[in-house]
Amino acid sequence: MSRLRDGFQRTIDYMRISITDRCNLRCIYCMPSNGHKSIGYKKILSYEEIVRIVKVAAGIGVRKVRITGGEPLVRKNVTYLIASIKNINGIEDLSLTTNGVLLSRYAEELSDAGLDRVNISLDSFRPDRYREITRGGDIDVVLRGIEAAEKAGLLPIKINVVPIRGVNDDEIEEFARITLKAPYQVRFIEFMPFGVKDIWGPEKYISTDEIKSIVEGIGLLKPVKLRKSGPARYFRFDGATGVIGFISPISHHFCEECNRLRLTADGKLRPCLFSETEIDLKPAIRSGAPDDEIERLIKLSIEVKPEGHNIRSQKSIVNPKSSSGHQSSVKTSDQSINSSLVTRHSLKRPMSRIGG
Ligand code: SAM
Ligand code: SF4
Repeated sequence: MSRLRDGFQRTIDYMRISITDRCNLRCIYCMPSNGHKSIGYKKILSYEEIVRIVKVAAGIGVRKVRITGGEPLVRKNVTYLIASIKNINGIEDLSLTTNGVLLSRYAEELSDAGLDRVNISLDSFRPDRYREITRGGDIDVVLRGIEAAEKAGLLPIKINVVPIRGVNDDEIEEFARITLKAPYQVRFIEFMPFGVKDIWGPEKYISTDEIKSIVEGIGLLKPVKLRKSGPARYFRFDGATGVIGFISPISHHFCEECNRLRLTADGKLRPCLFSETEIDLKPAIRSGAPDDEIERLIKLSIEVKPEGHNIRSQKSIVNPKSSSGHQSSVKTSDQSINSSLVTRHSLKRPMSRIGG
């Protein structure tokens, strides 16, 4: 079986694919209030183009795929894409990250099409606050979506929360308590310096250590080892049904275990969320290049995958106003990459545009 290794001996077997930069919510930390100018329809990869890329990637070792966005469920006929990816030889795990708004409508058909799991992003249980954070979202709709996902067998249900100081940090305990009775994985993700300038500020960031110490106020947390834990570190309260995960891209970054590539909705492969490097697959795909060429470009993006990020020491954490703080310290195993294939962007691009 093929294995893709980068220059730092990491096995790369996971591709996160953004299928749209559009969204039916406008979360304050991810989108400007009036949305952003969407990538034009013609620039977005078609499902056939995505499937072709995944086939080539699976042929050289990618085993896990996650569909994300923007909000993936706003794109038409996602079920078709799920079924097509599920049929690809070598793909063993297929999941999707969603805000949950359209889940009650699609959970069952997604499951029937072969989706294994969903991650649902939810930053507050309070209807008013949820509406404020998402600029208009209805928490009841999302809760119905979670129920539908559970009923459809999209398990385990993972709930992703981004605690932000002064916004929802007073609900950390409440989120953690869910795991006492529900078989969910509640995952706390550190707030990262992406996206909307007015919202991000280092004072709003809450480290995993701080979140964990709040959660430990409820009871003793015991570490648990989950088979597919990814970058999360998991814990459980004694006798609890669910587990609590901590994802710490800033404070304890997990670069040495990073196994992923990201494909943006407009066809760029990003080897690292925090790096500006992207390899554009679209020109090759759209000019009739053979699979060998797509394979070469995927391998190139793995060659240039940086060893790690140093976002914590960058000025974006220390001083959000500094634009000079976003130079990434990219170290690559091969500096002689073809620069015409690599485009550079500001690190501040919101997650909805990169693919969260
Ligand atoms: N719309 C879907 C959703 O909300 O789950 C998928 C895309 S969204 C960009 C993916 C995840 O990125 C969400 O869980 C969201 O909370 C997270 N995210 C967005 N901006 C972030 C930031 N600045 N820091 C941490 N997480 C962020
Ligand atoms: Fe949309 Fe997800 Fe970004 Fe919220 S976090 S605006 S739901 S893409």
